[in-house]
Parts: sequence; structure tokens; C-alpha cells
Amino acid sequence: MADKRDYYEVLGVQKGVSDDDLKKAYRAMVKKYHPDLHPDDKDAEEKMKEVNEAYDVLSNKDKRARYDQFGFAGIDPSYGAGQQGGYGGGTTFTGDFSGFGDLGDLFEGFFGGFGGQTRTNPNAPRKGQDIRTSVQISFLEACKGTGVDIRVNRAERCPDCSGSGARAGTSAETCPKCHGTGSVKETRRGMMNMLIQQVVQCDRCGGKGKIIASPCQSCGGTGSVRRVLSKNVNIPQGIDDGQTLRITGEGDCGTNGGPNGDLIIKVNVKPHDIFEREGFDIYSEVPISYMQAALGDEILIPTIDGNVRYRIPAGTQNGDTFHLRGQGVPRLYRSTRGDHHATVRVTVPKNLTRKQADLLKAFNDSLDDRNDPSRKKFSDLFK
Ligand SMILES: [Zn+2]
Ligand SMILES: [Zn+2]
Repeated sequence: MADKRDYYEVLGVQKGVSDDDLKKAYRAMVKKYHPDLHPDDKDAEEKMKEVNEAYDVLSNKDKRARYDQFGFAGIDPSYGAGQQGGYGGGTTFTGDFSGFGDLGDLFEGFFGGFGGQTRTNPNAPRKGQDIRTSVQISFLEACKGTGVDIRVNRAERCPDCSGSGARAGTSAETCPKCHGTGSVKETRRGMMNMLIQQVVQCDRCGGKGKIIASPCQSCGGTGSVRRVLSKNVNIPQGIDDGQTLRITGEGDCGTNGGPNGDLIIKVNVKPHDIFEREGFDIYSEVPISYMQAALGDEILIPTIDGNVRYRIPAGTQNGDTFHLRGQGVPRLYRSTRGDHHATVRVTVPKNLTRKQADLLKAFNDSLDDRNDPSRKKFSDLFK
């Protein structure tokens, strides 16, 4: 006791240190000396005790004031009386974790869940793992629906032992150490000698809860074998890029009589050259000539059903959009469809001959405000 170190020195801080800096210093020390990081290191354990004691005092306004004034005697009347007691001899840490945030997490990590850990019975029925795969289909296949062949590797119940893992004619025995639970309780010493009871995996049976004396040769005692599943999967019409299909029960086999996992298929849809999709609506652009726009015409609009005849009116403007109701993408698992929106783009003729250019000029000279209201606006502007 005589060589008890000054509390400020223990935490490596100056007298008058702020609460925040004190916390920081304490955290750093905990990380440095925590017994879980130095198993069986007496020195680290002593250092940790020293650190905790120092922090216990300095983080308490009252105790710190008395310590500052009277030294060790201020906070422990037995100090100097030749008795071991009070601080230093205890085995329980009474510090308050609240207000520490990440420090609490730190302890969580050290203690592996602080004794509250429970393990599920290894012999309980468990669902098999889901299997994930992906397919790529074309834009039109997504609109119309299609079938795709998929191949996945999955765990199937071993046919030779029916999933028990034991060779034909034998059976698995319940583990005598854990009585089939797969886990045993273990007591160990944690920080500040605190006893921690933990549930750990049974080492006798490896957590399985049972011991197979003569394992099935087909599956090596695992109860399952890997097989390739080849399957034609129906992709419903209307599916969109990135959506997934779940096929129940086609994943890995379950254990202890549990159900199979599922097969989850992500569908990737290749983009289309002229169609764009948003929800169940399709957008496209249709080029038309200057003359078709001016005079109106019956044009062909490509849709997912093929070309559709559509009459555009005289005076159609570049960028006008025409809506073909119910000619978009079929809605998933429903009988209705989205719309097709076709936007016209008026093409400007290129590489005109002299004669064509003259005709166009003559035509243009013949135009007046009645032909184009926007021209009137401009001519008004510059009057
Ligand atoms: Zn087997
Ligand atoms: Zn066991």
C-alpha cells in the first residue's frame, strides 16, 4: 500500500482534467490492460484494478475533491491504518457503464453477450438454407413471360440414412456430456475477477447433441449430400429488372425433419434498344417526317405486340406524345396492362438538292401567321 500510485498518474492525466478527457484516458487504459486481452497475466490484472480504482474516484466529484485535498486518506479512512480493505481488495467491479456508449459495446465484445446467451437445441427441426441464383432474360421475355433453365448445387437429404447420418442399421446416440443440448455451461473469470457463466458449445459432440458411432458412408455422417438441381422455372409476364422469385422448398434440405429452404432467383432484364420501361408503362420515340407532322398521317408505332397503326393529326408537333392505352407491360399476376407512350420526333431532311432547297424556300415564304402562331408572337415582338 505504501507504494500506491497517484490516481492521476495511474490514468496518465493531469490534475484538473476534464470529465471527457478522463473518460478517454480511462477507455484507453481499459483497452490496454483488460484481463480478457491478457489471460493469465497477473500484472495486467493488477494494472486493471488500479485503473478501475483510480477512475472510480476521479470520476466522482465528491471523492475526487476529497482525494485532491487529503490524498488516499480522504477517500479511504482505512488507508494508512495498516489494514487492507476498501479499495484494492474487492473482487467486484461496481463501476457504472451507463453514459459510456462504445465502452458498453467494448464489454459486450469481451464477454460475448454477458451470460445472456442461449443456444438453440441442436436436435430441433431447422429449415434448410435458402439458395440464391440469378438469370438474365430479354426485355420482351420479361413482358411476355418465359421459362428459364436453372442449375443449382444444393444439399439434399441423404437417401441412404434418411438424414440421420448413421450407417444403415445403426442410430445416433444422445451425447452423454450435454444430454443432447449441444451446449454446456462454463464458468470463467472475467474482468476484476468477476465470475462469468457462459454457455459454450459441447466439445464432446461438437454441439450436435448426438454422437454417431458409425457414420453413414454416403454422407459422412452429415445426413445430407450435395446434388445438382436442374429445373425449368416459369418467369411470369410483367417481371421487372432486379425482381426476385422465391420457389418455396427448393433450397437446401432441412435438418432434424425441418422444412427445406427456398430457391430465390433474381431476374436481370437486358435493356431494349427502343423501349424504356417505368413500372408497367413503356416509353418509346417514333421518328416522323416534317410532312407527316404537318399534314397528319397514319404511322406505325412499334409496341411489345408488334407494329400498331396509329393516326396522328395534322399539325403534330415535335415531341408530342401519343398514348396507347393498355398496350404496355402486363401487370404481374393480373390481367391488366400498362400503357405505351410514343413520342414523335420530327426529322429534319439533310443533303437537300438545289431544287429541293428552292422548293422549301418557296414553301416557307408562303407561310404566314395563321400557319404558325409562334411566328406571330415573334413578329409582334419585333414590330
Ligand atoms: Zn447418409
Ligand atoms: Zn454434447
